[in-house]
Amino acid sequence: MGAKALVLLSGGQDSTTALFWAKKRFGSVEAVSFDYGQRHRVELKSAAGIAKMAGVKQTVIKISEYKAIQNSALLDPEAPTSARHKLNKKLPATFVPGRNILFLTAAAALAYTKKIGNIVIGVSQVDYSGYPDCRRGFIKSMQRSLSLGMEFPVTIHTPLIKLNKKETVLLAKKLGVLDYMAYTHTCYEGKKPGCGRCPACRLRAKGFKEAGIADPLGMDI
Ligand code: ZN
Repeated sequence: MGAKALVLLSGGQDSTTALFWAKKRFGSVEAVSFDYGQRHRVELKSAAGIAKMAGVKQTVIKISEYKAIQNSALLDPEAPTSARHKLNKKLPATFVPGRNILFLTAAAALAYTKKIGNIVIGVSQVDYSGYPDCRRGFIKSMQRSLSLGMEFPVTIHTPLIKLNKKETVLLAKKLGVLDYMAYTHTCYEGKKPGCGRCPACRLRAKGFKEAGIADPLGMDI
């Protein structure tokens, strides 16, 4: 239990669940969040609040210039979040090309300086929005690249990779941290507690409904 872990914390339901999973599993846990120019600053507020409540040190890395070279509905306030991606119709408009590559690279560099050998990311390849950078093959490949590129053995843990939204809710219940879900942010439209209509709100509502648990966020659909 002496091992240290760095958790990527966006302030959403999945990364918050992953944070508490890591707290149970590792002796010492820190969080890293990214200001990548996302439309909804509320996300960063949630992440800071959750890190504080969980009693973990949080580092915020500013990469807001990233939006200058990117195309995503999560970066463009004018773009509809439920459409298909402009550059790849197979993917949702909310796909941010290269996001997890960038996040994991920056997280691993931070982990390196802190001698933290474990990185935790709350991606899921089930019930997710079709993002290619949430799949196991990508994570494995990143782990290898980062370990080789920094000559630093880093392990990327993905506690949610095989879980659907219902199972993620049940994991939060098992960890005894459902109450913290009231402080998470999910909505692609940046609404609090949630617009109830965007794909992220719908997926969250489905998960809680199937788990038979009321969402502590109090979102009404
Ligand atoms: Zn919404």
